[in-house]
Amino acid sequence: MFFETLLLATGNRGKYEEFRAMLPDSFVGRLLFAPEVGALVVDETGDTYAVNAMLKARAWARASGLPSLADDSGLEVAALEWGPGVRSARIVEGTDEDRNRWLLGGMAGRKDRRARFVAALALSIPGAWTLVCEGDCPGRLAEHPSGEGGFGYDPLFLPDGFDVSFAALPAAVKNAISHRAAALRVLQELLSCEGSSGDSPHAVDV
Ligand code: IMP
Repeated sequence: MFFETLLLATGNRGKYEEFRAMLPDSFVGRLLFAPEVGALVVDETGDTYAVNAMLKARAWARASGLPSLADDSGLEVAALEWGPGVRSARIVEGTDEDRNRWLLGGMAGRKDRRARFVAALALSIPGAWTLVCEGDCPGRLAEHPSGEGGFGYDPLFLPDGFDVSFAALPAAVKNAISHRAAALRVLQELLSCEGSSGDSPHAVDV
């Protein structure tokens, strides 16, 4: 399946840059950044990444008339009962630095530093169907932030197999192993399945 134009239903420039780097030319001609298309506030009222991704993708597809791809993602930490999860963006009002400070505070004295990023992707075709899938990336939390790249919790997240944070890794490496990359692989696999666009068990009508 090829999309001449695909709208990325996010206001997060970091996510947009990652998708721009990850989506092959054989899949998308032009990737639009939602804030450059219009203003739309979507309440993320779901308790799961999948529902929130679907709410965002559907709302943007309906409003724009364009195929729309949304991501809902979060950080899950074993020592914090696998939170903050779907509340990762809203757990603390303020900046990414404020949220990283909150996270380090919550991890003080904790030995179990296992964590994972999880992403759900929803692809919505206006008037037709929406497809949802998930991916994750296991790792652990560092004692201190490091690195200049990425966004969000990247400076504190050490993916499995690496001793440096997502923020310190080249973007190409993060984009090969991340939760979004894993979810994107599932999405492409689903789209390449026979009859996937409409009658797939993973697709729901809009
Ligand atoms: P969303 O935009 O509502 O999906 O919120 C995602 C939250 O998880 C934000 O706080 C992000 O900073 C965080 N997050 C998701 N993916 C990543 C990532 O790849 N690196 C760092 N933080 C991430």
